[in-house]
Amino acid sequence: MAIQSVQHGTEAKADMASRDSLWQIAIECGGQGVWEVGETSGIKYHSPTWFKMRGFEQDDAAVTTQKAWLSRIHPDDQARLLEQFEAEKSGQIDDVRHEYRERHRDGRWIWILSHGKIISRDSAGMAVHTIGTDTDVTEIKLDQERLTALADSEQRWRIAVESAGQGLWDINYATGQSYFSPAWRSMRGIAENESVSAAFQDWLHTVHPDDRECLFNELHTRDGSASNDVVHQYRQRHRNGSWVWIMCRGKIVERDSMGKPVRLIGTDTDITDLKNSESELKRLSDRYELAVSAAMVGVWEFDLSNFKSLWDENTRNLFDASLVNDLLPADFWESRLHPEDRARACATAENAIATHGSYAMDYRIVIPSGEVRHVRCRAIYHTDTVHGPKLLGVNWDVTEDYHLAEELRRAKELAERHSVQVEIAHQRMKHNALHDALTGLPNRRRLDQLLKVVSAAQPQVIGKRVALFHVDLDRFKHINDTMGHLAGDAILKRVARILKYCVGTGSTVCRAGGDEFVILNLDAPADGQLADLAMRLLRELNEPVIYNGHECFFGASIGIAVGESGAVMGQSLLVNSDIALYRAKSEGRNRFSFFTADMQQEVVEQKRCADDILRGLDRNEFFVVYQPQFDARSLDVVGVEALIRWRHPERGVLAPLAFLPVAEEINAVARIDAFVLVQALADMAQWRRAGIVIPNVSVNVSERRLSDPKLAESLSKLDIPRDCVSFELLESIYLDNQSEMISRNLAEIRKLGIGIEIDDFGTGHASIACLHSLRPKRLKIDRQLVLPILASVEMRRLLAAIVDIGKVLGIEVLAEGVETREHARILTDLDCDYLQGFAFARPMEAADLAEFMLSNRWRVAA
Ligand code: C2E
Ligand code: CA
Ligand code: CA
Repeated sequence: MAIQSVQHGTEAKADMASRDSLWQIAIECGGQGVWEVGETSGIKYHSPTWFKMRGFEQDDAAVTTQKAWLSRIHPDDQARLLEQFEAEKSGQIDDVRHEYRERHRDGRWIWILSHGKIISRDSAGMAVHTIGTDTDVTEIKLDQERLTALADSEQRWRIAVESAGQGLWDINYATGQSYFSPAWRSMRGIAENESVSAAFQDWLHTVHPDDRECLFNELHTRDGSASNDVVHQYRQRHRNGSWVWIMCRGKIVERDSMGKPVRLIGTDTDITDLKNSESELKRLSDRYELAVSAAMVGVWEFDLSNFKSLWDENTRNLFDASLVNDLLPADFWESRLHPEDRARACATAENAIATHGSYAMDYRIVIPSGEVRHVRCRAIYHTDTVHGPKLLGVNWDVTEDYHLAEELRRAKELAERHSVQVEIAHQRMKHNALHDALTGLPNRRRLDQLLKVVSAAQPQVIGKRVALFHVDLDRFKHINDTMGHLAGDAILKRVARILKYCVGTGSTVCRAGGDEFVILNLDAPADGQLADLAMRLLRELNEPVIYNGHECFFGASIGIAVGESGAVMGQSLLVNSDIALYRAKSEGRNRFSFFTADMQQEVVEQKRCADDILRGLDRNEFFVVYQPQFDARSLDVVGVEALIRWRHPERGVLAPLAFLPVAEEINAVARIDAFVLVQALADMAQWRRAGIVIPNVSVNVSERRLSDPKLAESLSKLDIPRDCVSFELLESIYLDNQSEMISRNLAEIRKLGIGIEIDDFGTGHASIACLHSLRPKRLKIDRQLVLPILASVEMRRLLAAIVDIGKVLGIEVLAEGVETREHARILTDLDCDYLQGFAFARPMEAADLAEFMLSNRWRVAA
């Protein structure tokens, strides 16, 4: 076959030569180099293009040897090529295809694509003639490499993007072919195999309603826009129903002729977490801002790198700095500081800066209007790498707080001052409530308190002897009535001084009321010492007080009660001392008396007596007896004295002494007097009817009755015959300076034709002047003066003097208590007008008087 080929080749040599060159031209035109080799046959041909593509001179035989050729092959390709050659030489396949790098003459590597065919083999099957073409595919190879690199880098980019959680999208509206990466899908919960519509309307449908309009607008404005950037933030529905915040960034990579985007590529990032924390941050900062603005707290920062301040609105308002620039120079703040606070405030701030510390302070500022404001400030030094060192602070207006505090302080001060005054007033009131204004002594209330201490047997007094002196001034009422209240006051003050001075510090002197004083000794000495004290008091109190040049004589009676604290009640001590006082008075005043159990008994009896008196009055147990009075010379009956008697159901007929003192105490005497008068008038009428002539009836009138404002009225109701009735008034009533009431009653009595007689004359204090002005009808000489006249010349002389006074003043004189005829004789000799006494007649009942008058018994006796 090889021979046939050779033969055939020889025959067609001329044709072939011409045809070969035509093919060769055609191939060469295609840029391919033709080669023909036959190792054993020695066939060897390389076309001009073959040389050219390698940069060699045409037909340079040195470069076409296999050895030279192999030396130019890239080391990486050599082994492979040789392997291929061996396989081709002895193989079944006649097609040859090699791709390898060969060193260009200029030193670079070129890629050669070699296509050939084994066109004859020897009998052993070994290739003897191969023909082929070489093509320089360097450019293609480079392109391929570039493409591969591009694909690699795209792959890398995708992986990077995807692994960063960003979803890729590539939308092509023209082809309708779009790509959405796995991350893009997973952030929306879309399965990998699920098809996704890239249609605008479908996509918009899944967007949060609130974001749709904004997105729609954004997407439409980019149609004609010069920018190809795509940036959106929106919420899209996740397959699980939640909303996913998407940050979308991309680029328009292709537009149509109208400028409408055709293809867009970009990434989506799930920024839901970011958005959530962003909204949380916003919520927090909103809240903070609200708090700051609501609290009117101003926030400021002072940049230490440029010494400029940034103040928020509240701070500006506070400092009235609304018109100045954003950044304030350091001295602006200083300029607003109150001169008195400036140095301190600056030093505080400077210190915080120097120590990188913080501070809190209050200071005052003066705003342009002149208004002073109090500012409270908190600040802290702060630094970070981004912003550098700063002083950060807040401040707010505390002017009102200050004013309030100031007001409060003033109010408190006022209240304190006030409360001191109140306390003083309170103490004064308390003192006043418990002390007598005139003497300054503890009063009755205070006394009661002290007595309660005794009753309660408090530790400080338990087991101690308690002595209570009840001091009652004698004749004080008289001084008060006659010399006026000022005199009385002077005496009371004097008495208070004397008592305090005499008792010393161990005892308390109280004014129990009126002219009564109480001395309370909670740790009393023995009775003997108490008696000494009482005597000393009486002595001192007997000294007259000079008032307005007048000597005022008074004196006192003292009742003393002693008991053991805890064993005796305070109030009963007071009652007992009162009983003792009563005894002292009744024993003749100007003396003291210790309380005894007997007295207590008497008091009980008196109490019973008082009840009895009132009952007796109601039951008409009282009756009147009459003691006749005689003309000293003729022994004619000139009148009778009406005297009260009590027919007591158990004790028989009682004389006045047995009940009058008690009646006096219970205010029953006036009632008795009135009864006597009425009875006397009735008896007189009866006597007259019986033909017995009694020219006058004298009734005793107590001081109380004489002072009764209703006396005149009650008298006018009685039919009192004129000049037939006399009122006997005790000299002790102090007719000298009568009270207004007594004077008025006396005038009334006179008007009614009632005679006035002075009873018990000589025992009291009626003055001659008084007799002159009062002009009584009669003086009744007390029987104490009458009785001794038998034995005493002086008493006779005294009586003679009294009779003379009566004669001079034109007042009749009656002697009481004429017990014997001898008395009667002397009194008659002394020119006494009238006589009354047991010598002539004892008091008798009205019915007995008639019999007495008719009997003329007294004359017989005489
Ligand atoms: P008096 O006004 O001095 O009355 C005279 C008293 O002397 C009477 O005592 C009478 O019984 C008593 N008497 C008369 N003659 C003698 C005598 O020769 N020797 C002695 N030793 N006594 C004589 P009576 O009735 O016991 O009254 C005592 C006092 O009671 C009266 O003293 C008078 O002050 C008062 N009295 C009596 N009745 C009344 C009355 O109706 N009203 C008032 N206010 N006082 C009365
Ligand atoms: Ca009398
Ligand atoms: Ca008398």
